[in-house]
Amino acid sequence: MTVTIDPTAGFCWGVVRTIDVAEEELRGGSTLVSLGDIIHNPKEIERLDTLGMKTIDHVTMEQLPDGTKVLIRAHGEPASTYRLAREKGIELVDATCPIVTKLQERIRKYYDDGWQVVIFGKKEHAEVIGLRGVCHDDCIVIKTLDEARDQVSLDRRTVLFSQTTMDKTSFHAVREYLRERVAEFQEGSMEEIANDFHAKDTICGQVSGRDKKLRAFAAEQDLMVFVAGRKSSNGKVLFGISREANPNTQFIEDVNELDPAWFDGVERVGISGATSTPHWLMEQVKTYIENTHGSS
Ligand code: SF4
Repeated sequence: MTVTIDPTAGFCWGVVRTIDVAEEELRGGSTLVSLGDIIHNPKEIERLDTLGMKTIDHVTMEQLPDGTKVLIRAHGEPASTYRLAREKGIELVDATCPIVTKLQERIRKYYDDGWQVVIFGKKEHAEVIGLRGVCHDDCIVIKTLDEARDQVSLDRRTVLFSQTTMDKTSFHAVREYLRERVAEFQEGSMEEIANDFHAKDTICGQVSGRDKKLRAFAAEQDLMVFVAGRKSSNGKVLFGISREANPNTQFIEDVNELDPAWFDGVERVGISGATSTPHWLMEQVKTYIENTHGSS
């Protein structure tokens, strides 16, 4: 049996940066807490916990002891969090991914200019909460074509953005649907139509570039073991892609979830993960499989 880790799997650039920022603060002796899970991977959170970084929520942020610094993770935060920090005199360590910061700025520009903002994403995802905050929650969040049909009225200038970790094909389907509707309205010269429709594909290249490579890698394996946190949005998307390319794809969060039955008669095992899956964890899974099921 051969066990290979997908060469393109592992942390995206934004997550590497966030973890570097956190580790540097901790090494410098700061008391640092992360506002929400630093990444959607419990094993990496555990590792950082042993270095001294705890995770808090927004309620706890209001009662922090003096001198505690609060890390803003790669997903970013709404303006209300920055306001709260100012009011309470809390020092923030802002590790928002610059790609997310840029997206927030683009949304703000359209919103301030009076456009209706539509975000293709998951309403309660941390990044989307930050994006919603940019427009004071005065925006429409949709995650399916059906929701686009039901919830988006094109009665004014409308701009469509995407959460950075959404699936490109689904985003394009929503974009095309809205474009066609605008065109139909315009032909029918209905009174209430969007006199402008802009669609911004803001899916991160670190995520979207990966799907093709993952597809090719997964198709070459007899069994794919996909390692990610269950809360990882990007993990769900990439797992789906792996399963499409290779129906014998299994999802695990930790090495102890491996089922010996999966390995019967299997020669080539591939391991991949989300942009939030640490490389050391995939190595651990690889070593475990090799030691338990043999490698040649
Ligand atoms: S997926 Fe892209 S936008 Fe999201 S944290 Fe990683 S680099 Fe930044």
